[in-house]
Amino acid sequence: MNAEIISVGDELQRGEITNTNSAFLTKKLNSLGIVIMSQVTIGDDPDAIISSVHGGKGQADLLFVCGGLGPTADDVTLSAVAKAVDMPVKTDIPTWQHLLSIFAQRQIDVQPENKRQAQYVGKLIPNSRGLALGSWVKLGKQRVVVLPGPPSEFQAMVEQEVIPMIIKEFNIQKTIKTRALHFLGRPESILMNDLKSVMETYPDITITSYVKPTNIELRLTGFMNKQIDIDARFDQVTKMILEKEGEYYLGMGNNFSLVNKVVNLLKQQKLKITGAESLTGGLFQSTICSVPGASEIFDGGFVTYAASAKVKLLGIPSTLIEHNGVVSSATAEAMAEYSRKKLGADFGLGFTGVAGPDSLEGNPAGTVWIGLARKGEKPISKQLHLAGYLGRQEIRLLSVQYGLQMVLR
Ligand code: ATP
Ligand code: MG
Repeated sequence: MNAEIISVGDELQRGEITNTNSAFLTKKLNSLGIVIMSQVTIGDDPDAIISSVHGGKGQADLLFVCGGLGPTADDVTLSAVAKAVDMPVKTDIPTWQHLLSIFAQRQIDVQPENKRQAQYVGKLIPNSRGLALGSWVKLGKQRVVVLPGPPSEFQAMVEQEVIPMIIKEFNIQKTIKTRALHFLGRPESILMNDLKSVMETYPDITITSYVKPTNIELRLTGFMNKQIDIDARFDQVTKMILEKEGEYYLGMGNNFSLVNKVVNLLKQQKLKITGAESLTGGLFQSTICSVPGASEIFDGGFVTYAASAKVKLLGIPSTLIEHNGVVSSATAEAMAEYSRKKLGADFGLGFTGVAGPDSLEGNPAGTVWIGLARKGEKPISKQLHLAGYLGRQEIRLLSVQYGLQMVLR
């Protein structure tokens, strides 16, 4: 089977936004064994849309037209597709009434153009994340699929609606399945070298690695059909990988988030966390607060950027900092323990280090000490030697991840 993707939007054509929708859709279609014949980007222009729909001459099994379904004047996709396939634009009354109720609640006047977001051609594809509907049109052997541009809406519709419709309509039996495993603290080349024996043991499963800003992702890929229980196979492979690399493992899943995992774990155990931050300047606390319900496990914390603030806010003896240096195991552990005690929390983290670009106390950029204090235990610490060239934001981001990983252990 094959598909063609037409992306519509002036901003895409001018390179002002990156076409992530097309990349996302390509991956999802590939997982069903569907080959992308062509991808084109055109402007918000009805004639260009009509000629691109006709240009394919019905050769592709699936023709996607993505973007331009909103209520503004530049959103011309639906009417152009309707013209191209010579079918009427229909209005879904429940969607229109839902739209009216949203506008009433928000006290915004409804414009005639808003009706477009309740319209579709052929069969409607529901949108759980936004307003514009999608369309599914049967045109001879071909299916034309029209989807809105905003990525959160686009992705949810592809995953929840379009992929199941394709599997059903084309009776697809064999699909590719993947599993993502996340690691932190192991260089990619060493990790992949360690996994050679796993790959030899399970030649039917492909293992690839991706370096992400916050961790390394391993992706297991394999074919699934009625005879092969791919999840059981993934479980075996995962077990073998974790026997070797368990120390660095964070968790699994496409939408995995380390901070979610840590916050939820603390919630379950009814434990509280706090911290004192020097190089991360509040990023750790902000990351914790990004999780809904963080208030159950986090009362507050400290940003102690200068040595004097570590003394004044936390009560760390100035001699301790002078004697050991700001970027030291002793200071990180003191920050962790003093912040924990101040707020009566179960865990305290201390972040100190050199975000760069300049070095500090003879330590190059990327040198980080993280302290972890656990109630009833002696504080511990960990030193990181991150790459100085990463830049301040990446060094701070990674430091927070390493701190969260220490809480998991
Ligand atoms: P809206 O109601 O938001 O206007 P729409 O269906 O008309 O929805 P577009 O106007 O095409 O969608 O795009 C809305 C926004 O979604 C764009 O400004 C852009 O930020 C994002 N977007 C659109 N197409 C893509 C794409 N292919 N890849 C990534 N982002 C996209
Ligand atoms: Mg728009």
